[in-house]
Amino acid sequence: MAEENEKRYDPSAIEPKWQALWASDPKMYAAEPASCGKPKYYVLEMLPYPSGQLHMGHVRNYSIGDALARHQWMRGYNVMHPMGWDAFGLPAENAALKNNTPPREWTLSNIAAMKRQMERLGLGYDWACEVTTCLPEYYRWNQWFFLRMYEKGLVYRKKSKVNWCPECATVLANEQVVDGCCWRHETTQVDQRDLVQWFFRITAYAQELLDGLDKLEGWPEKVRTMQRNWIGRSEGTEVDFFLEEQGSGVRDQGSEKTRIRVFTTRVDTIFGATSVQLAPQHALVAEFTATDPKLKTQVDELLEQQKKAREAGDLGAIEKHGVPTGRFAVNPYNGARVPIWVANYILADYGTGAIMSVPAHDERDFEFATKYNLPIVQVIKPVDPAMSQVLPFCSEEGSLINSCEYDRLSCAEAQKKLQEIAVRGYFGEPKVTFRLKDWGVSRQRFWGTPIPIIHCEKCGLVPVPDEQLPVVLPAQIEITQQGGSPLSRVPEFVNVACPKCGGAAKRETDTMDTFVDSSWYFYRYTDAKNAKAPFDPKTAQYWFPIDQYIGGVEHAILHLIYSRFWTKVMRDLGLIVNDEPARRLFTQGMVIKDGAKMSKSKGNVVSPDEMIGKYGADATRMYALFAAPPDRDLDWQEDGVAGVSRFLGRVWRLTTKYAPWIRRTKGEKGSILLLHSDPQNVLPDAEPRLRRKLHQTIAKITQDFEGRWHFNTCVAAIMELVNLVQSADCSMASGGVSDAVITEIMENLTLLLAPFAPFLAAELWEELGEEEPILRTPWPVSDPELAKEDELEIPVQINGKLVEVVRVAADADVKAIEAAALAGEKIQARTAGKTIVKRIVVPGKLVNLVVK
Ligand SMILES: [Zn+2]
Ligand SMILES: [Zn+2]
Repeated sequence: MAEENEKRYDPSAIEPKWQALWASDPKMYAAEPASCGKPKYYVLEMLPYPSGQLHMGHVRNYSIGDALARHQWMRGYNVMHPMGWDAFGLPAENAALKNNTPPREWTLSNIAAMKRQMERLGLGYDWACEVTTCLPEYYRWNQWFFLRMYEKGLVYRKKSKVNWCPECATVLANEQVVDGCCWRHETTQVDQRDLVQWFFRITAYAQELLDGLDKLEGWPEKVRTMQRNWIGRSEGTEVDFFLEEQGSGVRDQGSEKTRIRVFTTRVDTIFGATSVQLAPQHALVAEFTATDPKLKTQVDELLEQQKKAREAGDLGAIEKHGVPTGRFAVNPYNGARVPIWVANYILADYGTGAIMSVPAHDERDFEFATKYNLPIVQVIKPVDPAMSQVLPFCSEEGSLINSCEYDRLSCAEAQKKLQEIAVRGYFGEPKVTFRLKDWGVSRQRFWGTPIPIIHCEKCGLVPVPDEQLPVVLPAQIEITQQGGSPLSRVPEFVNVACPKCGGAAKRETDTMDTFVDSSWYFYRYTDAKNAKAPFDPKTAQYWFPIDQYIGGVEHAILHLIYSRFWTKVMRDLGLIVNDEPARRLFTQGMVIKDGAKMSKSKGNVVSPDEMIGKYGADATRMYALFAAPPDRDLDWQEDGVAGVSRFLGRVWRLTTKYAPWIRRTKGEKGSILLLHSDPQNVLPDAEPRLRRKLHQTIAKITQDFEGRWHFNTCVAAIMELVNLVQSADCSMASGGVSDAVITEIMENLTLLLAPFAPFLAAELWEELGEEEPILRTPWPVSDPELAKEDELEIPVQINGKLVEVVRVAADADVKAIEAAALAGEKIQARTAGKTIVKRIVVPGKLVNLVVK
């Protein structure tokens, strides 16, 4: 490379220049109204919690989204690419405790700091639709939705056992309990407490949430599977066993207490039931223990074991214990008497809190019956005779035996038949159960959306009238570590006139789970300033569903189920017409360092600011895309960032070297620098080879943006292209490549870089004499004729083993390929004196010779 071109690539000069230009032109990244006539594209990255610092996971997430947004702008789409802040939550309260900074101030200053980092990274967001969830103009709509859902019966209050984190001093949703500990405090054990809580009736949508997954083909299969499991649908039958009166046959069948309703997915095995088992909390158990102090002590022990297992987070692994109650139940199908047990592994909140135990055909029941010596009666004969001696036999591939007149029915037939009989006899019915529970949204925290309900002694629960919204959080509050809601200690907030009777009343002091905020924020982006409604339905209809949502797989169940639920509720309120929020979902891998997740405690955190300072934002972003496929974990290596930075330096030197020449071909007058040429290094066929590589690269990157998203290989392809251009440098400089082709190469290289290294691309675009912003320049189109290889490599096998690779013209026919294969040097040596009995030619792919 010529000495006079050894200028230095200096991102610290280039990047601030463009940051300032972009900041002064908000239209650059602004979404246009529907009337613009372009097709729309809504690309969205999950909004961050404003901790004050972006981490590398954010950088990766946003680099993917920003590359896609920029590509779509260049493809001519009307792009919506917004950003906002999931700004409520506990850390602000902790910070208030620690530094005595009010949560609002702390949060807003963190937002400002992170926004500066995002601008430094060159992320193309439309800040006109920024959403900050902790501001009243946003959370008033959480309250508005709460009231609409309350009116529809989708919000209710009930006393329930809740997960309580002593550290957070608040209730956690089941999803926020990980292995018995708090999701934020990984070593803090979660307790169970009884509290009156507000719930969203998400179970009303359980079936639709499940069915909808089948249609979400643009979502990763693993996310859909996780949601299916979380919803946990099982089909079965509820059947009543009858309680036998002590000493004297069946009790009066009219009264409630005579029935023990069990849920089973295998009613076909009911003739094999050898006990009925109750959860320790079951209502009948209290009745039994009332007159039996010994049984009471035993049941209390079972309860304690269950509580411990629940706290340890592993109910499935509980060591199974049970006690017989001395009572009996009667099988409604054949009148058989079976003993009633209480067992620690039966859960009051699953199914009916009672099961029938069929040891011959259920693992868990088999284990229990073996331990306590209960009878084991086989009632299913396997189809496969080899299985007939193996118990428990849990498959449904069999037919009934020992089951009275139902013998020989298949399991499926028997299930249907026995359900019909239960319905006809009024002792049972088909039943679908879900593992999904209603969403407990009450939090005893300050920094969240106040629940818009007033408690009046006279009128009961009174919704805050719409015109009194928002219920605003008090500005001054003392955050302490006392339990309970901080709002309950602010009399000006709590004491209020009842909207109905005008008497003295009290505000609800619970605030909403912050997952409420993130359940619908992406609708607000489309109409962020609306003061009359959460958003304009027409505008939302234009933008929704989101075309591409990008975020971490850790949100596969919480956020992504809640926001699907919210979408369905809004649809039923008539606000939107889409059933699902996002057409496509992409979950990027984690950023790790030295094999572990970056964390302060491990001391392996790499700060984005440090990387940008050393190598520039372009190199940092491009490395985040290049170092691993986007869906895999990325092990951060600073050497790699340095390497990308050196590569960008090469592109910069190469382009700026030819830029004056190119500008002159476009008519610019003025001097032109001397280009060196060294005839020794001239690349033969430089022009067709350069164009072929260029058009192949355009085709590859365009295809990747359409769905494969192998951005790491896209960056690698650009690197290969640059390598070839460098090797053709002498040909280009000495007139071996036409001015038009040099221009084509340099311009398109710059366009291809634009989604990945936006600052450098903008700078080079200007160097090349272009005045229109690169973002408004159409994405290059690959010419398939130019991209076509003129020669192909064909592997030649002898008896299925690769022997030689020969080159043939890309359009060679079978005969020509065969001739080329037979002419191969190694092939000739190996076939000399032998007979070729068969020649298999797959055009464009391979040749196989069968030789004897
Ligand atoms: Zn906690
Ligand atoms: Zn009242």
